[in-house]
Amino acid sequence: MTELLSVVVPVYNEREVLPTFHDRILAVLESLPVSVQLLYVDDGSSDGSSEWLAEKQSDDDRIGVLRLSRNFGKEAAMSAGFDHVEGDAVVVIDADLQDPPELIPTLVEHWREGYDVVYATRESREGEQWLKRQSAALFYRVMDRLSDVPIPRDTGDFRLLSRRAVDALAKLREQHRYMKGLYAWIGYPQKAVPYARDARSLGRSKWSYWRLWNHALEGITSFSAAPLKLATWLGLFTSVLAFAYGLFFLLRTLFLGNPVPGYPSLIVIMLFLGGVQLVCLGIIGEYLARTYNESKGRQLYFVMDYRPSGGLHRRETL
Ligand code: UDP
Ligand code: MG
Repeated sequence: MTELLSVVVPVYNEREVLPTFHDRILAVLESLPVSVQLLYVDDGSSDGSSEWLAEKQSDDDRIGVLRLSRNFGKEAAMSAGFDHVEGDAVVVIDADLQDPPELIPTLVEHWREGYDVVYATRESREGEQWLKRQSAALFYRVMDRLSDVPIPRDTGDFRLLSRRAVDALAKLREQHRYMKGLYAWIGYPQKAVPYARDARSLGRSKWSYWRLWNHALEGITSFSAAPLKLATWLGLFTSVLAFAYGLFFLLRTLFLGNPVPGYPSLIVIMLFLGGVQLVCLGIIGEYLARTYNESKGRQLYFVMDYRPSGGLHRRETL
């Protein structure tokens, strides 16, 4: 019995890189000694990617195309892919060539050794600005501190998952999908494979700073309730300070009389407390909004059409 390896590629407006990507990944997949199934998940592309994929599939039945009803975001697109592949192992890879397809054989080797999650870890982040690198580093530090499961650093979605890891992930239907956290949360033996991450070759990253900030917020709120506890501690801390300050005034009035100064301190304290209260309310709001979204229990994505692959078959020479 030959094993089946499924490759899931989320695609959102990648018309420019798709042809190069496709050639590169096919070259790698054809060299693998396993049967392979390649599934493109078209996440509501509007730049001609869909047409390109349809055309490609019509003359090559080794590829499958799953088209979602609109753009649901990469996380949903990956989940959609996981739900539709049958492989004994599943590889997720970006279409923009930032994840080198040439690493796949190494991922497969480690899977053969018995690891369930084999993830690629960036050694360098070529072509990214200083600010982006620094903010990423800060984010990973904060995440490390806050989350209950250790989430590997400098790791994207590029990885191989065993069948049971994919099945485990499929059971987690939360709307706010912080995938890096979910991969770690399911447990199972995991293995890191270092690689040099290239700069995006063509097209543009869809990650603005605003989106990164939201992604970071997602990560923290999905994997830690620590910010909620922060409010309690902040409240306790300011109460103690206020009490000490009050005591100071009492003693000063008793021993030195009271010339009624204090307008500046009054306004500063009021503004400070007002700010603290608003921040805490905001934190509660972030969690409340997520609880609200989860409580609706909506489907993660809808499928427009699904054209499965015929499957790449094992070559006799290998
Ligand atoms: N992607 C997607 N849906 C989206 C955004 C991105 O399927 O809403 C895909 C995109 O086509 C690419 C991968 O996810 O294959 C990574 O996207 P991008 O390069 O924009 O992210 P980055 O590499 O900066 O993390
Ligand atoms: Mg990218």
